[in-house]
Amino acid sequence: AQVKVYRGDPTYILQILRHIQFSCSHIPQQAIQQLATTLSISIPKIRALIEFYHFLHYHPRGDYDIYISDSIIDHMSGKNEISNYLCEKLNVKLNQPRADGRVTVSNTSCTGMSDQGPAALINGLALTRLTRKKVDQIVTKIEGKIAIDRWPKAWFEVTDNIQSKGVLLNSESRPGEAIKKALATAPHDSLAEIDKSGLRGCGGAGFKTAEKWKSCLLSDDNQRYVVCNADEGEPGTFKDRVLLNSYADLLIEGMTLCAYVIGAQKGFIYLRYEYQHLYKKLLETLQRRRAANLLGAHILNSELSFDIEIFMGAGSYVCGEESALLESLEGRRAIPRIRPPFPVTHGYLDKPTVVNNVETFCYAALIIEKGAENFSAQGLAGFTGCKILSISGDVEKTGIYEIPLGLPVKNVLNLCGAQSVQAVQVGGPSGTLITPAEFSRVISFDDLHTGGSFMVFNQSRDILENALNFTHFFMQESCGFCTPCRVGTKLIYDLADKVATGQGARLDLDSIKQLNHVMNGMSHCGLGQRAAEPLLETLEKFPEYFVKRMTDIEYQPSFDVEKSIQRAIDIVTIESNS
Ligand code: SF4
Repeated sequence: AQVKVYRGDPTYILQILRHIQFSCSHIPQQAIQQLATTLSISIPKIRALIEFYHFLHYHPRGDYDIYISDSIIDHMSGKNEISNYLCEKLNVKLNQPRADGRVTVSNTSCTGMSDQGPAALINGLALTRLTRKKVDQIVTKIEGKIAIDRWPKAWFEVTDNIQSKGVLLNSESRPGEAIKKALATAPHDSLAEIDKSGLRGCGGAGFKTAEKWKSCLLSDDNQRYVVCNADEGEPGTFKDRVLLNSYADLLIEGMTLCAYVIGAQKGFIYLRYEYQHLYKKLLETLQRRRAANLLGAHILNSELSFDIEIFMGAGSYVCGEESALLESLEGRRAIPRIRPPFPVTHGYLDKPTVVNNVETFCYAALIIEKGAENFSAQGLAGFTGCKILSISGDVEKTGIYEIPLGLPVKNVLNLCGAQSVQAVQVGGPSGTLITPAEFSRVISFDDLHTGGSFMVFNQSRDILENALNFTHFFMQESCGFCTPCRVGTKLIYDLADKVATGQGARLDLDSIKQLNHVMNGMSHCGLGQRAAEPLLETLEKFPEYFVKRMTDIEYQPSFDVEKSIQRAIDIVTIESNS
C-alpha cells in the first residue's frame, strides 16, 4: 500500500521502510523481497539501508520499542539510573527483545531533548523528564498491554522552554507577510536584501546565505529545489525543534522566498526521526497554507508555484551534513558526497539545490518582512545578526536563548544562571571546549562558532567523562564508509575508556595523537576528522583528569578479558538487531 502512496518512486524507499518498521516493529524478509521487485532496487541495497539507519531493524522489537537518550546531558540528569530501573522493572536487557517479544530497550544518541531529560523515545514518540515514578506508570501501561495512543498525553509533552527572545522569537506569526512583500518586487530585490543583512547559514559552516542562493540561481539547470535541513543531531541542540513547533509558518515562508529567488517549484523538509511528534502539526501547517493560497500553484495569484513535502529521517547523525542528507532524500545511505560539485549546482537528483537549516530559513523570512537592518543591527562589537542557542547542563534555566552575535560567553552564562562553571562545550561534541580563562571569547562565526549547542559543566563534573561520552557518540555515529573513521573511532573510544578506567599509560596518549593525525588527514568528512578532538582538547585544557588516572609506567598492556568479551557481545548484538 505504501508503494502506491509513493507512486512506486524508488527515492521514497526510506519512507516506505519506515512505515513497514512502524507497523511490523521490524522489516520482514518478505517485505524486502516485495520491495526489491516493485521498486526495482536490489535486495543487497535494501539490506544496506536497513543496516545503515539506526531505527530500522530486521528483527522484531515488539509493541513497545524504547530508546533511551544517551547524551552527556541525559547522563547528568540521571539517565543511567532511569535506564537501569526501567530495564529492571520490565525485566529486559539492553538491546535484547524481552522473552515474550513485546518490548525492547536500547540506547540512542541525543534525542534533542537536552532541556527536558532524561528522555526516551517509545515507538518514535518523545517521552521527557523521566522519573522513577513515571517509569512505574509506563511499565504498568506496558504490562497492561495498553496501546500508547491511550497513554496520558501529558507524558509526551515537549515544552518549548524559550528563555530569551530576540527579533525572531519575538516576532508575531503573520503568515504570508514576507511573501507578499517579496512578490511586490523582483526576486533579485529579495536576494539583495538577504545579502545586505549579512545572514549566514546557522547550521554549521556559516556560508553566506545570499551567495548560496545566488550560486543556485546562476546554475544552468532550471529545475531547482529547496531543502530544509531539520535534522539537528548535534548533542545538546534542540532550538530547531522549538522553531518547528512554534515558528513553522516563518520557516515555510523562508523556504517559499528561497523558491521565489532561485526559481524552484518543489521543496522538502527533512525532519529527524526523533522529532516525529512534530510531523502531524507540520503537515497541518502546510495544509493550512495551501488553503490560504500561500503554498501550491500560483501563490497569492502570482506566477510563483511552490510546494513542500515532509521527508522523515530514520536515524543517522551524518544526515546533518548537507550532501549526506541529499543522499538520504534520494533513498540511499547517508554517505557524504565528494565535493565539489556542491549541492547548489548538483544537489537533489543532481539538480541545483539550496540546503539551509530551519533557523536560516526563519531568519530569511524575517529579513524580507522587517528589512535587512532589523537583523544586521542586532550584532555586538562589529558582528552582524543574532543566533539561537540551546543551553543545557548545569544552569538554572535550560532552554533556548536568542542572542546577538558577538556576545561573550560570560554574558551567556549570566543569562542562563550558571554558577561555578568549570567548562563549556560550545557547538556540541564536534565543537570547542572552553575553560573559565576563555569566557571573554564571543559567540560568532569568527570566534566561537556553534550550530546551537551550548553545554555547561560545573565544578562537580568529571570532564573526562564528557570526552568519553563524545568519543562514544562518534563511534556510534560513524557511517562506516571510510576505514580511518570506521576503525579509528573505535580505537579512540577504546583508548579513552582505558584511560578513564585508570588503565591508561603515557603511550596511550601518544597513540590517540597518532590516530588523530591519521583520521584528521584521511577521513572523508568532518565526523572522522574531528572525532579525537574532544579527548585531545580535554587533555590540553584539563590535564589533571588524565594525570590522576594514569599509571606511572610508559606502557600498560592492560587487557580486560571480561570487558572485551562483553564489548564484542554488545557489538554483535547491536549489529544482529539492526
Ligand atoms: Fe562516514 Fe566517518 Fe567517513 Fe564521514 S568520516 S564518511 S562519518 S566513515
